[in-house]
Amino acid sequence: MGLKKSTRIVEINPEKFSMLELSEAVGLLREGKIVAFPTETVYGLGANAFDESAVKKIYLAKGRPSDNPIIVHVCDEEQLKDVVREVPQNARALIKKFWPGPLTIVLKKSPKICSAVTGGLDTVAVRMPSHKVALALIKECGFPLAAPSANSSGKPSPTIADHVFADLFGRIPLIIDGGKCEVGVESTVISFVGADGKNLIVPTLLRPGKVSVEEIEEVIGKINVPASDSKTKHAKKPLSPGMKYKHYSPKAEVVVVMPGKDFLKKVFEIGGGKDIGVLSFTKRVGVDREFFFDGNVESYAKMLFEAFREFDNKGVELILAEGVSEKGMGLALMDRLKRASSKII
Ligand code: AMP
Ligand code: MG
Repeated sequence: MGLKKSTRIVEINPEKFSMLELSEAVGLLREGKIVAFPTETVYGLGANAFDESAVKKIYLAKGRPSDNPIIVHVCDEEQLKDVVREVPQNARALIKKFWPGPLTIVLKKSPKICSAVTGGLDTVAVRMPSHKVALALIKECGFPLAAPSANSSGKPSPTIADHVFADLFGRIPLIIDGGKCEVGVESTVISFVGADGKNLIVPTLLRPGKVSVEEIEEVIGKINVPASDSKTKHAKKPLSPGMKYKHYSPKAEVVVVMPGKDFLKKVFEIGGGKDIGVLSFTKRVGVDREFFFDGNVESYAKMLFEAFREFDNKGVELILAEGVSEKGMGLALMDRLKRASSKII
């Protein structure tokens, strides 16, 4: 696949737009093409979830392994009926509380969902985004959109349209630019189906996100939060590179300094003589290439992937990131930081 075709960007103001502005995107999606669009989490790369050959184009454009299933996006509960076979009570309670919003649930799949979406699994991941452009786009299409993050596989997820353009130029016909994504990290994913194919009484967290474990447990009681492999690996052997679990990675090496350590001291110890970028949380370090979040986890998460890309564009060789407590959204932020990192100290 070369760069024969160009990629158009259409700017849309999420607070004030007409359906006419979405007509090109809707036309392309109805023809079985793929289109990048904004959501409240990160930019998505969408295709008709009922159209196998359209969905395959997503894997090709992203270079995504074909066994990594894609989240289906719906605009209302009516559409959900065509995506899943049944909605258990506890899943229904989460839908009521958190949709539209950054919570993805994994349920038994409807036969209408093509196997390219689910990587051959009998389950499907589904969510209803809260972004007005995303909702309007899905509604106007009249079918759910299968949409992973609109980045090249392995790169940090895109949180502005420029990131999508940088990764997928020439590989997709259209990007809808709706400005910066509000959340900045991917949705929380929770599964209601066990390995035996039966519904789980106690669902399992598959990926932390903006909707926190604490918020979920307030609605449906205790859930299963497995210690992720990357976490245990990193925690047990903090100095070994966790290559297998590297995702969301910038080109620069990322080192995470756990909270409670003297971050300032570590920055000068480890970063001395190197071209560094710093993500600081409690105190400003005072170096040139620094994003300081002043104790705000939400701002840190919102800027994380953008900061990674900016540091890469400036030729930074080492990114030093101050870790946060793994409570609330801190769990999602630390998950992304750890997966991007080669070392945790
Ligand atoms: P992304 O497309 O980048 O937002 O990533 C989607 C995430 O949801 C990936 O981690 C997938 O592995 C996961 N996922 C999607 N569908 C399923 C499914 N049916 N069962 C389990 N995980 C899923
Ligand atoms: Mg992704």
